[in-house]
Amino acid sequence: MTDENQRINLLNMTPHAARGALVEFFERVGQPRYRVDQVLRRLWLNPAPSFEAMTELPKALRETLDAAFELPRLAIAARQKSADGTEKFLFRLADNEAIETVAIPDGDRVTLCISSQAGCALQCAFCATGAMGFSRNLTPFEIAGQVREMRLSDPPIPVTNIVFMGMGEPMMNWKAVDVALTMLNDPAGLGIGARHITISTVGVLPGIIALGQRQEQFRLAISIHAPNDGLRQELMPINTRYPLAQVIDAAKVFDRRVTFEYVMLGGVNDREEHALQLAKLAKDCRAFVNLIPLHPGGARGFSPTSPDHIRAFARELRAEGVEVAVRKSRGVDIAAACGQLRVERLGRRPPRRAQHDDDVQVA
Ligand code: SF4
Repeated sequence: MTDENQRINLLNMTPHAARGALVEFFERVGQPRYRVDQVLRRLWLNPAPSFEAMTELPKALRETLDAAFELPRLAIAARQKSADGTEKFLFRLADNEAIETVAIPDGDRVTLCISSQAGCALQCAFCATGAMGFSRNLTPFEIAGQVREMRLSDPPIPVTNIVFMGMGEPMMNWKAVDVALTMLNDPAGLGIGARHITISTVGVLPGIIALGQRQEQFRLAISIHAPNDGLRQELMPINTRYPLAQVIDAAKVFDRRVTFEYVMLGGVNDREEHALQLAKLAKDCRAFVNLIPLHPGGARGFSPTSPDHIRAFARELRAEGVEVAVRKSRGVDIAAACGQLRVERLGRRPPRRAQHDDDVQVA
């Protein structure tokens, strides 16, 4: 019997690598090759909760697999459902860290907002996750595993779109996000189309460049939130490291259309002059702008811009020739803002500042 500690996590490698490990394993135990595809399908595409549940395999083989490999789960510590159908999950990880995932149904789509880090070091002033500080990067399995758990849910939640807009800054954990993107997109993985997967960043340049180098058409969203360096520095300390002009330049050379995310903070970033500045930035890199109503309770010390005022702000942008959408506020009756549920359940921890490039994990 293999030692528990030596079991290989088949879910923490790309489907291609998992196939290699399984081919080698089945050769070693003298089993036919078709078993490889049988197991591979049960990792992501039609996931099994355990080897024991793979009843299409002989019992003895399931036990041999279980001795050699592990198929870890993310444990659901809390689950809240909003009247509008938005559902929020708090997952407990093996080391007791907790992360959040939000499923947002809209017509025939379900968008899953996933986390890439436990906590976040970047301390954006309006963000509950930033207020709790950084704990650690997630592994590829912990990132893609959030989607796997939706397929394992009873009844399954049929996720069609993924946004990296949960806890953490994905580009600060690029090495793991890079692998997780393959797990999400690969037809032998979760098989979700690259155009349906959006990576959202505050503008961490090495990550934007690395994403641009991938062949697949993954989408890029940039959290702008303030249209000039002075205000952006106040709201988002990372702007000191990656100022707006550099972020816009990176968006210009990114070979696909970019979306700007702009959270509407009452009396802070919602004046007419801000709309004009934002319009200029968006036109510079042909970006589409998403205006996001502030989630009530999501940010201490800020108040939401009124719906009328958001509409007027959107009109200003359109008058400047910018394409804009106002996002629906979802899950307002549950703690659906990023990091809010975890803060509610586990309390805040002292924030830790980003350690410049040391924290940027680009391959
Ligand atoms: S908005 Fe994103 S980058 Fe900023 S503190 Fe929150 S999780 Fe981190």
